[in-house]
Amino acid sequence: MSLPPTHAHSASEFIRAVQLGETTPADLLDAARTRADAAGQLNALISLNDQAGVQAAAVQSRLEAGETLPLAGLPIIIKDNLNLTGTRTTCGSRMLEHYVSPYTATAVQRLMSAGAVIVGKANMDEFAMGSSGESSAFGPTLNPWDTARVTGGTSSGSAAVVAAGLTPVSLGSDTGGSVRQPAALCGVYGLKPTYGRVSRYGLVAHASSLDQIGPLARHATDLALLMNVIAGHDPRDATSLDAPPVFTAGTPEDLRGLRVGVITESLGGNTVGVGAVLDATLDALRGAGASVGEVSLPALKHAIATYYLISMPEASSNLARYDGMVYGTREPGGDVLGSMTRTRERGFGREVQRRIMIGTYALSSGYYDAYYSKATRVRRLIADEFRAAFGQFDVLVTPTSPFPAFRLGEKMSDPLTMYAADVDTVAVNLAGLPALSVPAGFEQVDGKRLPVGIQFIAPALQDELLVRIAGGLEGIGAVQAEVAPPQ
Ligand code: GLN
Repeated sequence: MSLPPTHAHSASEFIRAVQLGETTPADLLDAARTRADAAGQLNALISLNDQAGVQAAAVQSRLEAGETLPLAGLPIIIKDNLNLTGTRTTCGSRMLEHYVSPYTATAVQRLMSAGAVIVGKANMDEFAMGSSGESSAFGPTLNPWDTARVTGGTSSGSAAVVAAGLTPVSLGSDTGGSVRQPAALCGVYGLKPTYGRVSRYGLVAHASSLDQIGPLARHATDLALLMNVIAGHDPRDATSLDAPPVFTAGTPEDLRGLRVGVITESLGGNTVGVGAVLDATLDALRGAGASVGEVSLPALKHAIATYYLISMPEASSNLARYDGMVYGTREPGGDVLGSMTRTRERGFGREVQRRIMIGTYALSSGYYDAYYSKATRVRRLIADEFRAAFGQFDVLVTPTSPFPAFRLGEKMSDPLTMYAADVDTVAVNLAGLPALSVPAGFEQVDGKRLPVGIQFIAPALQDELLVRIAGGLEGIGAVQAEVAPPQ
């Protein structure tokens, strides 16, 4: 065993060590579990996978039988809205506290077929609704860089585990920023693929026209590694695209001649530190031979309103199934209607209830045209403006979040302030585009170094370009993820 399973290693290094026989899937799993124990105070995991040991042994046998496994023995953590047969899939909700998955999500199945070992299920905002990681029924996830602060949401645990070095990579889901925003606030990469690039089969639905599964990582090569496994057509998801993944982490050469457009609407309202990190990233791009310009997308000022008027109606419809009869923890007693009402009152938290009510209202006859239908038209405008901007630029840039991690409790009592945290991310989902948050620097706040993320947005199906840019920026030292120091 010449390679100690150090938590700072990349996924690629772990896999190579397994393939060379320098370590084993079981050793890597043990190391991840030890780290998970040590980082228990972060509350980043909802459950550990008790089949993981069996999985690790099975990977070892497959390797001994001569199989080539691209993710040989890779320990990975997945968000708790991804189904894995025989494990609890709670979605961070009391409603599904005791739900055990009878099937496995396609993306998760692909990971396991490639040799990955699922260590556990990550904490998350309830039903992937939130921007801080605080709406989980199992308590908030704490930021590894400052445990008095939020991780961002909703893939709160998925970001925290990678930042704290439990596993080198994780899976999250992104409906309006839920992979990118926590990735930014925790100082790791987070990729939201083009809508349809990764199968949604087995991902518990939030807003079906916006949801995508995406990877979080500390190295560009690891994003490529994961995307090459999880992306691709799946007959079980009618919206999945037939676009074979050809991801590689790029080099600084990939930045030469790149036309970068900074979105004007994202320049106001940022903290000083976020502005400084954006400027430094743009300088680095220029230094590597990219050209940098500015482009205005005026419809973006409607992005948050549009996003919530589309996502809440979709959510209210998707969540109708949790009535305690077919799905959900039943609150018994009384007649059927009484039981359903109590089930939904006690099973859902405040934010989920708020969205079901607003969503149902926006869909109701008399209001449908004024709200939902109008939002779908603005959605088209936003998509058109992106398309026009890509006539001039290869890639668009914004901060991922206007501020670094905020304090626990700071925004929980004011939903509109919480929704405003998504100002830079939601438009991407409305337009179905791929976007990547890169760990581009830090802002010093109250004596702590808080990570800052910068978002790169590409035209549909050019997800590969984003990972090449990440590799290029890593190559020139402009971007780097670190494991958070112990608190
Ligand atoms: N913060 C957004 C919301 O609350 C995004 C959620 C997500 O991407 N799942 O809806």
